[in-house]
This record gives sequence, structure tokens and C-alpha cells, in this order.
Amino acid sequence: MNLSVVGFGGIPLQGLPFSEAEKILKHAVDNGINFFDSARGYTDSEEKIGRALENRRNDIYLASKAMARDAAGMKRELEASLRNLRTEMIDLYQFHAVGNEKQLERVLGPGGAYEALQKAREEGKVRWIGITGHSRDIMLKAVETGRFDTAQFPFNPIETEWADKVIPAAQKGNIGTIGMKPVAGGAIRNAALSIRFTLTEGIDVSIPGMDAIKQVDENCTAGKTLERLTGEELELLRAEKELWGEQFCRRCGYCMPCPNGLNIPFLLLIEAYYTRYGLKDWALSRLSGLPQSYSDCAACGDCMPKCPYSLPIPELMEKAVGIVV
Ligand code: SF4
Ligand code: SF4
Repeated sequence: MNLSVVGFGGIPLQGLPFSEAEKILKHAVDNGINFFDSARGYTDSEEKIGRALENRRNDIYLASKAMARDAAGMKRELEASLRNLRTEMIDLYQFHAVGNEKQLERVLGPGGAYEALQKAREEGKVRWIGITGHSRDIMLKAVETGRFDTAQFPFNPIETEWADKVIPAAQKGNIGTIGMKPVAGGAIRNAALSIRFTLTEGIDVSIPGMDAIKQVDENCTAGKTLERLTGEELELLRAEKELWGEQFCRRCGYCMPCPNGLNIPFLLLIEAYYTRYGLKDWALSRLSGLPQSYSDCAACGDCMPKCPYSLPIPELMEKAVGIVV
């Protein structure tokens, strides 16, 4: 694939009406973005991409992913992606969020999901097979098997722990690296700088999520200059990183749903903006629009094993009660 260095992360499309998503997606293609990444798990994101870009199919590369770990399940998911994306072939199909050794073995073992994608490749329904995840050790193992064409993981100025082993191993194996969350789920305010950081630290394609024309323009600009960051620019990012510390939510949404109806990532974002950026009015107005708040957390712990960053979510909710409300 000959990809634009900035690709389009499809998560935020979920929150947009079809007409708005179409405008943004077309604007992205018109401005040089040619890689669009979605997932079966992003509700109607695939459908929006399929509908908006059906007539631009020859100008773009499509990627999607699914959580299925067995062959039969993966076959079904792929067929649904093909329908939603309105295409006969998806350029890159990925195993979504492979989080532990057992899952990786299941995917690659007899009757595993890999078999389904291998067959789909023989049938011309898929060109390349990739893997995505948040665990550095698992990704390293996956890359070292030599069975994947691409590896997708979070990479941004806060999450740089992939640089020492995973990126060099991928480069050695000629495996493409796709950087998700290049602005740390919106945590880094200087998006252009953050994206340029990822691209000059070894990521092949950086895929920020976009839900506004302005973001598309900013992100496209970020990909135009691939000079390494100056000392001053690195200092700016270091200061942002310090502001967030280790315990911050990347808004991946894996902890959801909460049985008590809490919108966990949004509540954690509101608290972070309130305390770290001092956006008190913004935070309180957003909070007033939510049906559930921090104090509605029953500390059941359901969310914790699902968080790839091991955040102590109930503890963070309890802390926020004393801060934000
Ligand atoms: S611990 Fe709180 S936030 Fe987490 S699932 Fe339970 S009620 Fe929801
Ligand atoms: S709390 Fe963890 S799982 Fe939930 S959105 Fe944040 S980082 Fe993701």
C-alpha cells in the first residue's frame, strides 16, 4: 500500500449524522488522505465510510477490524464489513484489540480467526492481514511470529513505550506500523505537533480520529512536514505529558458499558479538563447534560479488568466526587 502518512481514524464518525460524516470524509480524500480505518465495533462508522466513499473506492485504501477470535466468527464479521463498506475487497483487515497470550494463540491456532482471513485473502476479499492491541508484550510476540502485515497500537508523546522493542521489531520484519491515538485521545492540545512526533519516531501511518473539517485540515498539515521536532517543540510536548501523569484515560471505551449507566470515558475527560486545564464552566455544563455522574458509581469493579491501562476507575470516580461536584 502506498499510504498517506496521516490516515483517518474512524471512531469519532459514530457521533456524527450521515450527512456531516460524508462531508468530512470527502474533504479528507480531497486533501490527500487515502487511508481509512474503521472497526465492526464502531457502530455505524463502517457504514458511513462505505456510503460516503463508494465512488472514491479507487483513490483510497480501506481498513477495518473485528474482535472475533475463531474462524467462523471472523468470516461473519468480514462479510458484514464488506457489506457496510460497500466493496468487494478490504485492503487491510485486522484482529481487533488482541489483549493477552490466550487470545493471540486462539487467533493463530487451528480453527482460529487467522484461518478465515487467510482464506479471504486467497478469495481476493482481503489484501493484507493486521493486528491491533494495547499490550506491548503481546504486540511484540505477534510481530515476531511474522504472520501479520501491519501492527496497530497507541503511540503519542505520552505513550512512547512502543519505541524500544515493538517498532524496531516491526521495521526488521517489514511490518507496517499504524499509530492509533496520536494525540492521546485529545489529551495533547497541540495535535499537529503530536502527530508529527509520532511520524518522526518510527510510525508509518498516524491515524487521528476526526469529526470536523477543521481537524482534517490541521491533521493534513501535520503530515506535510516530517522534520524531527526541535528541542523547543519537544519541551512543549514534555510539559503536556507532565500535566497528565500516568493515570489518564485514553478514551478507548473498552471499559464500557457500565451497568450503572456511567459514561466512563466522558466523565474522566470532564474531570481531567476541570482539574488540569481549569475549564470549570465547560466541565460543569457538560456534566449537567449527563444522566449519571461520578457519585452514581457503585464501585462494582466490572469496568476494571476491561481497561487496558489498568486504571482504578472506581477510585477515580470517587476522587472526582470531591473535586468536580
Ligand atoms: S465500578 Fe463504577 S464505573 Fe465501573 S462499572 Fe462499576 S459502577 Fe460503572
Ligand atoms: S477508563 Fe480505561 S478502558 Fe475506559 S476509556 Fe479510559 S482508558 Fe479506555
